[in-house]
Amino acid sequence: MSELLLSVRNLNAWYSHAQALFNISFSVKSGEIIALMGHNGAGKSTLLKALMHLLTQNSEQFIFDGTDVRKLSTDALCRRGIGWVPEDRRIFTNLTVLENLKVARPPKNTGLTVAQIWSIERVLTLFPSLVPLLKRKAAQLSGGEQQMLTVARTLLLNPKILLLDEPSEGVAPLVVERMKAAVIEMKAAGLSLILAEQNTHFVQGVAERAMVLLAGKVVFDGVLSQAMSYLNLGRPSVTSE
Ligand code: ATP
Repeated sequence: MSELLLSVRNLNAWYSHAQALFNISFSVKSGEIIALMGHNGAGKSTLLKALMHLLTQNSEQFIFDGTDVRKLSTDALCRRGIGWVPEDRRIFTNLTVLENLKVARPPKNTGLTVAQIWSIERVLTLFPSLVPLLKRKAAQLSGGEQQMLTVARTLLLNPKILLLDEPSEGVAPLVVERMKAAVIEMKAAGLSLILAEQNTHFVQGVAERAMVLLAGKVVFDGVLSQAMSYLNLGRPSVTSE
């Protein structure tokens, strides 16, 4: 596998005065998919928010694509190539599906070739079920359709890494399968992903590596198959005996 894309060392983050993340260190290589796992409240969404600089935080290192990005705003991180799909879908419900796609303006001068750029046509090949819905108001879509639209909009910003928060939560099984297939296609297109996901079925066959969080700390970082048994043990302790 290729070069390092993202590297974080000793990231701490707070909601108001309550510390939510503790000394998180990890890295992601170009083209790698990491499953971010852990029980409810373990800190998965919080870690993704911290990577987008949405929390009070500090870290010894946050390098993205060869640059120290610790001082960048959320907007600047997006422009540099970090795409975030939060749990609560971010779409304009009063606009149609097509209008939602058209307002997602990609950053200029990304250095990407035409083949690498995510155009509206290309994202629709990833989510063909959106095609017959293009003229429909986003408010009238199902949860799964809104989820697909949110991912499509984020891809149009041509991210180098996608932070996907619980893509399978609350959506129909068919949509889960479509989303999983889309993730596999994104990986084939060279995208890196961090998938915050509790659904072990979703991450199997998609991610090679997993990071398990417990109470805001990384308690496992390694091959996915080992993380599965680690999760099945219940709530593991940080130190092994
Ligand atoms: P889930 O799948 O249930 O969302 P998660 O692993 O994503 O779980 P987080 O949502 O990141 O967990 O929550 C981590 C901790 O931070 C929890 O203790 C939660 O109560 C707390 N937390 C989350 N959001 C806030 C907030 N806005 N203000 C204060 N505390 C929060």
